[in-house]
Amino acid sequence: MATDAPPSTATETPASGQAEQQPPLLSAVDPSASSSITTSPPPLAPIRTERHPSSSSTASSFDSTCVTSPLTPGGAPGAPFRSPGAAGFGATGGGAAGVGGSGATSHDLSEELLAAGWRKFWSKRENRPYYFNKLTNQSLWEPPTAALPGVKRTLSDPAAAVPNHHHHHHQQGPSAPKRPSFGGPQALDAAWNFSVHSNCVTLERPPRRLFQPHPETELLRAQLIAKLRQHYSELCVSRENIQPPPDSFNRWLIERYLSDKGSDPLFPSDCDNELSYALFREIINDLPVRLCRPKLSADAKKQLYRYAEASKAMIESRVANPESRKIVKWNVEQTYQFLRQAKMPTYEDCLERLAHLKRTCQPHIEEAAKESVEKICTKLYHLSVEYAKKVRELQETLFKVTNPTDPWADLPPWSGDPKRRVRCYPVQICSPAPRPAAQQQLVETGCTDRMQFVRYGRDNSSQQGICRSVFAKLQQLYTLHCTEEDPSMEKFFPRLWCMLTRYQAFLGQQSQNTQAALPIPVFEAISRLFGVTFELFASPLNCYFKQYCSAFPDTDCYFGSRGPVLDFYPLEGSFEANPPFSEELMVAMVNHMENLLKEATGPLSFMVFLPDWRDPPTEALVRLEASPYNRRQTCVLPFEHSYRNGMQHCLERDEDLYVKSAHGTLIVFLQNDAGFMKWTPTSEKIKDLLIAFGQQSSHRRPQPQ
Ligand code: SAH
Repeated sequence: MATDAPPSTATETPASGQAEQQPPLLSAVDPSASSSITTSPPPLAPIRTERHPSSSSTASSFDSTCVTSPLTPGGAPGAPFRSPGAAGFGATGGGAAGVGGSGATSHDLSEELLAAGWRKFWSKRENRPYYFNKLTNQSLWEPPTAALPGVKRTLSDPAAAVPNHHHHHHQQGPSAPKRPSFGGPQALDAAWNFSVHSNCVTLERPPRRLFQPHPETELLRAQLIAKLRQHYSELCVSRENIQPPPDSFNRWLIERYLSDKGSDPLFPSDCDNELSYALFREIINDLPVRLCRPKLSADAKKQLYRYAEASKAMIESRVANPESRKIVKWNVEQTYQFLRQAKMPTYEDCLERLAHLKRTCQPHIEEAAKESVEKICTKLYHLSVEYAKKVRELQETLFKVTNPTDPWADLPPWSGDPKRRVRCYPVQICSPAPRPAAQQQLVETGCTDRMQFVRYGRDNSSQQGICRSVFAKLQQLYTLHCTEEDPSMEKFFPRLWCMLTRYQAFLGQQSQNTQAALPIPVFEAISRLFGVTFELFASPLNCYFKQYCSAFPDTDCYFGSRGPVLDFYPLEGSFEANPPFSEELMVAMVNHMENLLKEATGPLSFMVFLPDWRDPPTEALVRLEASPYNRRQTCVLPFEHSYRNGMQHCLERDEDLYVKSAHGTLIVFLQNDAGFMKWTPTSEKIKDLLIAFGQQSSHRRPQPQ
């Protein structure tokens, strides 16, 4: 509805001639993004063609000019900010090697071809030039004749000519053209839709003072976080004789980020309270042994016995007050008697007994184990602080090479307008340039039929593999957001490697539960029915829209991230939120949404998806249901719907792509009045939505307004 659009947006958005006054927007190539604001010219920065010489290409872009003369939005030196990573690390071994720098070769092509996405590159393997279209991923040996993208791939396709066998990268030297033949059929059955433009309006934001990602620091982070996980696991075993509760380390990270003011993006190092109650609760809940829902009565009986034994052993071996000891032992004795009875107890009897035993013993077990479990939590935190310091030291060493004095000193002040309303744009980084990655350690790549590999240096353990379809998606995201700042995409592979390594470090070996995504038909439906254009919880690997929030602004901004959700303040727009299962983050999310709805200047709508946990109900769920902004809610039943696998980006088999949900999913619409008017959750639409989820049952009526 045009009337819902903020009247001011149009006038506050400069037209293309005013590039110099724009913030250095990264997502500049988004010409139709303004379509939903009827009267406005494109609110995003126009496509800029000027380039600062140092941003154009190859390793020479690391000279110190990058530091002392940051890029203006239009590319002239001396203006307030450099766009993210304008002076990144060297990466000539990755990506396609430009002919003396893409800036030079690009100009061999007509303006028409350049505008259509064509660039010229040099194939060292074939010792001849080739042409690559950044918009369509098409590559040709001969100069393109038609400017129109989307022309069918031809037999002269140089990427297709590269043999495509396993471990192909081992045979390639760092100089061979490694651009794989992406853009094939995988790219078409896409799990994303980047043609959906943002309807999110925010205030202009200054660039963030973050270190640009660098392979050497990322490698160290990955090694140290593996060590930290290992320490945590050993602490659980040595102190409590249990394995760490599944995913508890990841939930600990997510919970810590909520209050962390430290400088490291991965290691919490400056939190309000060094003891994480979230982690404390998780560990305590698994003491003296972890219980899981038994399948048969024999399992239930076994668990009951194990729990009784372990409770007794624990209360006897710890410092506990005599009263606690007496209660636990008495209950354990009762349990033994129950188990000894001649008649085989039924499944329900066993479950009931187990629940009773846990209820009566747990407070005493907790009291006895409290000090020891607190030590696990604080030790973990202290190690994390120590590791953050180690990474910081390396970072400073790398930055001192190019910035011998204070690396942040020469950054000019922001000249933007914090009151200006703009279409949301990715996080921008203002930071000094790091030392380029050492020449002999360049990122190398290779591919198989299904996977694309990226690695750093010669060490195979640094290799990251992703599905080629996801690789094509990341290419597309990068092209959309970094075309001007990195026209030849020479920094693509190192940045990709850093991002993948960050997520691998964050997720560990098998963590999927913090990354499970909605099915594609559901994304299609919410976009069509409720105008959703934005995911509030995502990563470059699982996003469906090209605009989204994610946990790591420094590695993800090149792929379109608007930064962490709690640092993001939309004034209007329609959003989807499928948060990771961290109770603290979910509660913080509800608080944040309610504040935003209070401050909104136009239609604002949040569709929240969260587990329908009611035994007992989680705080976030209670808060959402009782929210004055709750317009409607509905529920999808357990085992009647699926989520996309949290590891969707690196799955070896398509069969594993969807995972049945063992819990119900509650969907709540939080909307202000204008949001409700514009994106009303009518019964008809809800029906369509549930069909998209693959079922139609279980409507829950809205809460009273
Ligand atoms: N985008 C998909 C998948 C969501 S899974 C969907 O909407 O269905 C939850 C995602 O939230 C994960 O990728 C996780 O890394 C990310 N996340 C974690 N903390 C976050 C934060 N503070 N801000 C934004 N995203 C975050």
